[in-house]
Amino acid sequence: MVALIRRRGVTDERVLRAMETVARHVFVPAPHTGGAYDDSALPIGHQQTISQPYIVALMTEALELQPGDRVLEIGTGSGYQAAVLAEMGMEVYSVERIAALYEEARDRLAAQGYTVHQKLADGYAGWPEAAPFAGIIITAAAPRIPEPLLDQLAESGRMVIPVGRRGAYQVLYKVIKEAGQTREVDLGAVAFVPFVSDALG
Ligand code: SAH
Repeated sequence: MVALIRRRGVTDERVLRAMETVARHVFVPAPHTGGAYDDSALPIGHQQTISQPYIVALMTEALELQPGDRVLEIGTGSGYQAAVLAEMGMEVYSVERIAALYEEARDRLAAQGYTVHQKLADGYAGWPEAAPFAGIIITAAAPRIPEPLLDQLAESGRMVIPVGRRGAYQVLYKVIKEAGQTREVDLGAVAFVPFVSDALG
């Protein structure tokens, strides 16, 4: 799996090493566990998916984090992305809106020995008490960037977010905050489950 991700152009050794270390099969529930090391997204129940490993690597690399950095994830899902970030030595905060997924991820992360601060909530509001964040990763596609999340991004911080409509392909953006302004870099087309929030209407 990691050799394939490397061939596809991810070069950050820390990301590749973390993905070699985290046992992805633990985060893929039956009956799909057997495909855990294929480079594909897989169902995790509740109409949600664990992201494709290459996309996890691309997004993690784009965050440009240093060990000890505080990072916010919206969309805990299986907990795999959070585990990769924790394995890299980040201080991870992760928000999920579906109770069953929140609980399953909590149990898996604890069993694997990862410390992740988790919250069951609509991630639109972010986690203001723990802000600012050096990195923010959104693992569900929103029609636009939630304003509270931009506010919680540290100066020089990086946000990685798929933006686009439900059902359509979306564009993965890296958003960099510089002198209070934001700059966007297009990382290509992606397909994510929708970001669900009353705040987005
Ligand atoms: N990062 C996850 C991928 C999960 S898929 C992993 O590694 O497995 C996206 C997740 O985002 C789903 O679990 C979905 O329930 C969650 N989600 C969607 N909208 C959300 C919102 N507004 N707040 C928090 N979580 C949300």
